Amino acid sequence: MKPFTYARATTVDDAVAALQQHRDAKFLGGVTNLIDLMKMGVEQPAHLIDVTRLPLTAIEEHRGGVRIGALATNRDLAAHALIRQRYPVLSEALLAGASPQLRNSATTGGNLLQSTRCYYFYDPSYQECNKRVPGSGCAAMAGYNRIHAILGASDKCIATHPSDMAMALDAVIQVKGPKGERSIPIGDFFRLPGDTPQINTNLGPGELITAVDLPPLPWATRSTYLKVRDRNSYAFALVSVAAVLEIEGDTIRQARLALGGVAHKPWRVPEAEQSLIGKKAGTDAYLAAAEIVIRGAKPYPHNGFKVELARRSIVRALSTVAQMMA
Ligand code: SF4
Repeated sequence: MKPFTYARATTVDDAVAALQQHRDAKFLGGVTNLIDLMKMGVEQPAHLIDVTRLPLTAIEEHRGGVRIGALATNRDLAAHALIRQRYPVLSEALLAGASPQLRNSATTGGNLLQSTRCYYFYDPSYQECNKRVPGSGCAAMAGYNRIHAILGASDKCIATHPSDMAMALDAVIQVKGPKGERSIPIGDFFRLPGDTPQINTNLGPGELITAVDLPPLPWATRSTYLKVRDRNSYAFALVSVAAVLEIEGDTIRQARLALGGVAHKPWRVPEAEQSLIGKKAGTDAYLAAAEIVIRGAKPYPHNGFKVELARRSIVRALSTVAQMMA
């Protein structure tokens, strides 16, 4: 591991200022991903700014919804009464991620910022990785691409985003940086790879995530999170589905649907959600929505199964939600 210097920030302003003062500096949060990447030589920061002691752990009511401090751990968030009662899909998603030990340490902000699990990205002995070394190529294209994207990829990168944080809840990310504070709707937070796969999010230079706001969504109590993976614990999703429905009688009134494991960012297709509204709850409506979600899917030699897996997972998740008591 390359030598680095270390400092602990005591306020958000200190942390933001410290990042400005050092070249090649990184924030150190839950220590579950960055240190792995440093050990592998993928990340080589010259300076680490430890933000783990900042007062950003609160989970509290906020404007009818819930504000989650960026340093709230996955364990605390999954277990919190406000989340379990109002946004159970988020609690389920968190508990389906990683291991208890990792959930004790992983943070809300870090979860959003974690890197792809593409094997070739993590192994610098592969010289071709546009995400690690822009312009070097992509070893996954002609390599073993079983876990890779089927939607929204580019000819520069076919990596997927690994986060299990539910995307179906219209969250808003609060950040603070050298130019002050701003709010980023989660739909604008993640990026597709395009020609710049090395840039994962629309965070600006030096910006720190301070909180994630969940808006009031009373019908989100009727929801589920389905994660399909190679083993039932401590594995990333091949396909995951977060589904939320409001149903009156047997008619769908509102719908949210987000997929993980299929694209460079959590994948949400508003047209698919719209297609469900006003329809009778049932397999025909779910299949039609699934077709819209996977429209344009482009599988690679080893991940063609994901297209059918995504279709079936969407139908199963929506069926599960519809069968719940309102
Ligand atoms: Fe690198 Fe992306 Fe290709 Fe993986 S898929 S090798 S992360 S460029």
